[in-house]
Amino acid sequence: MRDSERIQTDVLVVGSGIAGLSFALKACHYADVVVVTKKERVESNTNYAQGGVAAVFDPEDSHAIHVADTLVAGAGLCHGRSVEELVREGPERVRELMDWGVRFSREDGRVSLGREAGHSERRILHAADLTGREIERALLAAVAAEPRISLLEDHFVWSIATVMDPKWNRVRCAGALVLDVHAARWKEVDARAVMLAAGGTGYLYRHTTNPDIATGDGITLGYAAGAAVANLEFVQFHPTAMYPAEARAQLVSEAVRGEGAVLTRRDGVEFMTSYHPAGSLAPRDIVARACDAEMKQTGDGFVLLDLSPIDPAVVARRFPNIVRECAERGIDLPRDPIPVVPAAHYQCGGLLTDWDGRTSLTGLYAAGEIACTGVHGANRLASNSLLEAVVFSHRASIRLAADLYALPLAPSYSWTLPELKAAGNPAADVEREIRDLMWHKVGIVRSDDRLEGARAQIHDLSRDPILRDGTGPGAMRARQAEFMREVATLIVRCAQRRRESRGLHFTESHPRRDNEHFLRDTVLAR
Ligand SMILES: Cc1cc2nc3c(=O)[nH]c(=O)nc-3n(C[C@H](O)[C@H](O)[C@H](O)COP(=O)(O)OP(=O)(O)OC[C@H]3O[C@@H](n4cnc5c(N)ncnc54)[C@H](O)[C@@H]3O)c2cc1C
Repeated sequence: MRDSERIQTDVLVVGSGIAGLSFALKACHYADVVVVTKKERVESNTNYAQGGVAAVFDPEDSHAIHVADTLVAGAGLCHGRSVEELVREGPERVRELMDWGVRFSREDGRVSLGREAGHSERRILHAADLTGREIERALLAAVAAEPRISLLEDHFVWSIATVMDPKWNRVRCAGALVLDVHAARWKEVDARAVMLAAGGTGYLYRHTTNPDIATGDGITLGYAAGAAVANLEFVQFHPTAMYPAEARAQLVSEAVRGEGAVLTRRDGVEFMTSYHPAGSLAPRDIVARACDAEMKQTGDGFVLLDLSPIDPAVVARRFPNIVRECAERGIDLPRDPIPVVPAAHYQCGGLLTDWDGRTSLTGLYAAGEIACTGVHGANRLASNSLLEAVVFSHRASIRLAADLYALPLAPSYSWTLPELKAAGNPAADVEREIRDLMWHKVGIVRSDDRLEGARAQIHDLSRDPILRDGTGPGAMRARQAEFMREVATLIVRCAQRRRESRGLHFTESHPRRDNEHFLRDTVLAR
């Protein structure tokens, strides 16, 4: 039996989150589409999104206000046109989600619009507090009904193929090498175009709200193939995730502090009022930084969120989900405080794309959290990310329909198939070391010394091979650890270039914003 199979398709989509699935649903109208995803189809950041999707639906709201709110959050680095497109196209794309079967919560016959930090108006469409799960459910059902889409679970993209295109005399993307994880077999996928919708990088940090798929694979794959990346230094941390927060940490929403909960040290001393006049209700990045500073000072692994100032009846009525999650951990609310820690939540940077999802490598497109479209700048406005994914996937699908005539299948090329068995350090050890060093040295508060320490440590780690145990899952885990190492290097390189503090990038060595030198993206290209 051959250990490899050749497959041909028009479009290969990597990832089954909102970006990949919504793109596939468009592209299947003019192309055959194969979607590959490295675990079960639902396993994605999308599936865990809680808050909702931001879009202008309220007559009191306007595009200009949504644009203005987004620009304020982005701290000078948003690309104006990207934000305009996001906001202008947003409502239509959200209606399309409804047409695909997404059931947003409704009140009095209309969609219910929530309000979140940084938004001046009510514009968050949501499905209770499980919006991502509902979106994922509906999109997967819509995909299953499309005969021109095949979805392959447990198929892991190992590398991207590039060939020299003689017609245009330039290198272009030609497909990908994919590991069928359970069968431990290779699939060499020839595709006219590849859409990377492989999500973010949260799992590079010890504490994260992201599931363990968020290892930055697509960023490494795209960069290795020749696409430029940008702004990877802007990692958003959610200030209050329940501790321990190793992966898929439970968020404790801002609303709890809104009702009167207070952050304290382990010894019960309140600390936020010495950082900001709004105390525990200060902006997210300030709360995250303060928690980080307190944890560094005390050496504790977490701080506490004290709900005792809130009436117990209000706690039970307003936060039943949090009460249940806490009870499962033996925490009796509101009597007991909740141990919380800031946790890596969202990657604002990624593969640099134009307004139509094109990366700098011909034939390679990117959308969703993996992409740097210019929408978020130095900080993401809450609930703009699901919107960005649908708006820019849609734009990419229109672009690709026009580009496809110039992207025939590449003439045959051959792969050297990687070995599934190889000696080296256990992947789990490498992952742990990366997640710890990223947390301590490339986290919420950075410095030149800590970044240089991180660079040197990752460089040392890169000298040793990673163990492959001869199985498909073992090979995937090892390759994923390699991807984590590479993307960690890229994040550190971006952070070292930005010798100022702006948005989500805060460094003690350069604590001020420097518009003269750094009012621009940090771009890395091979
Ligand atoms: C807890 C939580 C709450 C959030 N709440 C909100 C919110 O309320 N509003 C909002 O706008 N945003 C929210 N976000 C952010 C938002 O969910 C994500 O940015 C968005 O879902 C990303 O979608 P995506 O399609 O780009 O990636 P994902 O949904 O992460 O999908 C990535 C896909 O790529 C696959 N993949 C990765 N690498 C490979 C590989 N090598 N081979 C094959 N497949 C691969 C994965 O398996 C997965 O299917 C939240 C995020 C989290 C974690």
